[in-house]
Amino acid sequence: MIPLIRTFMPPKDELMPELEKVLYSGYINQGVVVDDFEKELATYLGNSNCLTVNSGTAALHIALILAGVKEGDEVISTALTAEPTNTVIKQTGAKIVWADIDLKTGNLSPEDVERKITNKTKAIMVVDYAGIPMDIKKFQEIEKKYGIPIIEDGAHAFGASFAGKKIGNHFKYTIFSFQAIKHLTTVDGGVLCIANNDEFEKAKLIRWFGISKNVTRKENDISVQGYKYHMNNVNATVGLVQLKHISSVVGKYIENGKFFDEALKNIPNLELLEYYPDSQPSYWLYTVKVKNKQAFIDTLNTKGIMASDLHKRNDLHTIFNESMSSLPNLDQFENEWVHIPCGWWVTEEDREYIVRTIKEGW
Ligand SMILES: *Cc1c(COP(=O)(O)O)cnc(C)c1O
Repeated sequence: MIPLIRTFMPPKDELMPELEKVLYSGYINQGVVVDDFEKELATYLGNSNCLTVNSGTAALHIALILAGVKEGDEVISTALTAEPTNTVIKQTGAKIVWADIDLKTGNLSPEDVERKITNKTKAIMVVDYAGIPMDIKKFQEIEKKYGIPIIEDGAHAFGASFAGKKIGNHFKYTIFSFQAIKHLTTVDGGVLCIANNDEFEKAKLIRWFGISKNVTRKENDISVQGYKYHMNNVNATVGLVQLKHISSVVGKYIENGKFFDEALKNIPNLELLEYYPDSQPSYWLYTVKVKNKQAFIDTLNTKGIMASDLHKRNDLHTIFNESMSSLPNLDQFENEWVHIPCGWWVTEEDREYIVRTIKEGW
């Protein structure tokens, strides 16, 4: 079976000596190795304010706190995403207001987001679903026009870019996840990219109990609520070795994605997604819209290719009942959207077999 997702680990002879070194170094908690990982991430992403944390969810939580989101506020979000995007909003006590998606991409519709803004809206959560950058230009305009901070959940879009700059540089806050199945994994972990330097310093306090690492423990006076969200040297070591491979790993996703963009054109009952101008997806999943979705999934699975819609639309979870609203585009998209394998493990032979199999019909 060609799987839909797969964990990339660097070769043993590269990773294990580094891991052994750190495990017996006496410094396994957050230290110099984490600093080094943050520096290397900053270089890769092109944003010097990279705050590593122990999960993508922790990064989202810190972003929501920095945006000032509190109980009783509203946060506009998408139901087409992995659940953490939205459970973390509930964690702050704020109410989620769903906006509908753009049928051409599956990402949030800027027009519908604008319609959902009220005087209670404290932040807008946008997701680059499956690795396709959302309409960054229009969302930048919304952020400017209303002064409402945008939090970009880029968990699927590590290595993607817009206007020649990687995701991580276009909004006040962008997060990535380094969980097991993402483009880059540190086993578990995440990063929050922050535009503002003062907020970056504040985020460091929130990351670790509100305690500053710049002065001694006795000199500290905790004045902001903090959490235990830091990354440790062991996860950072995995991250540093992973980063040596990231260009080639992300490159494979993109190469396969571009191949499908061409090879799957003009197939009856199959529609390709569109990309917004000037954006380069990193194709964490390759998403298509098909008629008879279940038959498509079954046919591909029978022929050894994993196909799935993977995520449940989040608005159907009981915990989000208070936010229930009409989302006609998502209703339509739900009937058709499905992902096929596209990652680093998909060989040239595999991808040709996938295209041939789809062309045979379902
Ligand atoms: C994986 C993921 C997260 C959460 O990341 P964790 O590191 O597992 O906390 C958030 N949003 C999306 C869209 C994800 O896919």
